Amino acid sequence: RDLPGDPDTAPGVRQVHGALYSRVDPTPVTAPRLLAHSAEMAAALGFSEAEVASPAFAEAFGGNALLPGMQPYAANYGGHQFGAWAGQLGDGRAISLGEVVADDGRRWELQLKGAGPTPYSRSADGRAVLRSSIREFLCSEAMHHLGVPSTRALSLVGTGDSVVRDMFYDGHAQAEPGAIVCRAAPSFIRFGNFELPASRGDTALLKALLDFCIRRDFPHLADAGENAYAQWFGEVAQRTATLMAHWMRVGFVHGVMNTDNLSILGLTIDYGPYGWVDNYDPDWTPNTTDAGRRRYRYGQQPQVAYWNLSQLAGALSPLIATEALQEGLRRYVETYNQAERDAIARKMGLRECSDGDVALMQELRGWLQANEIDMTIFFRALADIDVRAERPDPAPLAEAAYDPERAAAAEPALRDWLARYAARAREDGSPADEREARMDAANPRYVLRNYLAQQAIDRAEQGDLAGVHELLEVMRRPYHDQPGREAFAAKRPDWARERAGCSM
Ligand code: AMP
Ligand code: MG
Ligand code: MG
Repeated sequence: RDLPGDPDTAPGVRQVHGALYSRVDPTPVTAPRLLAHSAEMAAALGFSEAEVASPAFAEAFGGNALLPGMQPYAANYGGHQFGAWAGQLGDGRAISLGEVVADDGRRWELQLKGAGPTPYSRSADGRAVLRSSIREFLCSEAMHHLGVPSTRALSLVGTGDSVVRDMFYDGHAQAEPGAIVCRAAPSFIRFGNFELPASRGDTALLKALLDFCIRRDFPHLADAGENAYAQWFGEVAQRTATLMAHWMRVGFVHGVMNTDNLSILGLTIDYGPYGWVDNYDPDWTPNTTDAGRRRYRYGQQPQVAYWNLSQLAGALSPLIATEALQEGLRRYVETYNQAERDAIARKMGLRECSDGDVALMQELRGWLQANEIDMTIFFRALADIDVRAERPDPAPLAEAAYDPERAAAAEPALRDWLARYAARAREDGSPADEREARMDAANPRYVLRNYLAQQAIDRAEQGDLAGVHELLEVMRRPYHDQPGREAFAAKRPDWARERAGCSM
């Protein structure tokens, strides 16, 4: 790693200038214990199940021991938070251990989240609580299996230490069990890594980062010569747009789309107060600290990503021509629009998406929102509608209603919509099995609903990890009906109505 690093290796929080990272080791914990791991991720990295089960594994991924070759560091980055420039942020509780090149040639960076203080910890402790670690561990693997680009999770290690958090709902400090997730990704570089040197006028550092990022993460652009920077920005724009279309398709709400939480590779990164849409509602946000509940709501995500991308464009303006940056932003819009149309076609089981289909989907969304209908259950069941009928029976969709009386009152509108939808599906002409397969591959049966994660967390806090393991297992095959696991596809129970995904 020939990148400019922080020459100061003393502990302590500071502003780090002229460097992209600081060398820092994890702080040991009292009693590291493996609570869960991803079998796929372990296999990809070449760990046998016996190795995973060994005490040495928990020691390494709890931050108590370094494996040969590890050179831990925390990255230096800034970011726009809730629309305002926040200055230096950096990895305040994440420490990268190093990179592994797997047998298949894929490169993975391994990073501990909650492994203790770094120069970027500001006033916080560098630790993570069990509940937020379970949420990150489960959701990053669930996203991967949903086909949504994401950082991955190798392991969840309990530390044996407690962590004190001010729970904002009751206002007083509370000791909670601590944990560490080892996450894995080809790169953890964020928009904010570029914004920070740009904000300081350090163009040489900005260029060093961009050259590194292209060399390591976009090697296919290495031969693009003087066009490489422009092509790189266009590709970042495209990947970001694709990610947004996935989030919208599956009903994922990130909740903190600050520029320090947007990956340069278009991966879902930094699972904090994220959530999943139950009843379809573009205005829903899981982030209770999002002032006025406006900025980071579900329906706003594609627009926020565009705003974030334009901040990145601004940061790169010393190195990339304005024309090329504008072209990249246009590519975002085009890619998103096309990906959204693809998603509309797939969600409705059509071969392709016409302008009329966009309108049909828009109308449906209005009905779902107005009548408190579960998004996941509705779309999954839409495949069971018999489109041979002139006026299909809406019975398969009944389960999706949170308020059956209200849904019954709105049924005439649904019947009319279904008649038009069925006519369109007949015009499309896909055989029934083909239509169902197309829909089932786009409309998951299982998503990591907030209440499911919460139930697993409640059990884990009592020392019972079975709920975490079972949820991880279910989420491995989200597009398959899994007999005996209907409960994991059930709509949110009443008690979970207002419990969003608070977690820090
Ligand atoms: P987030 O909003 O969680 O992405 O975090 C924003 C910034 O705060 C990042 O620089 C994090 O590293 C930092 N941060 C969040 N929680 C902690 C913590 N418990 N200890 C140290 N830094 C933290
Ligand atoms: Mg973050
Ligand atoms: Mg079905």
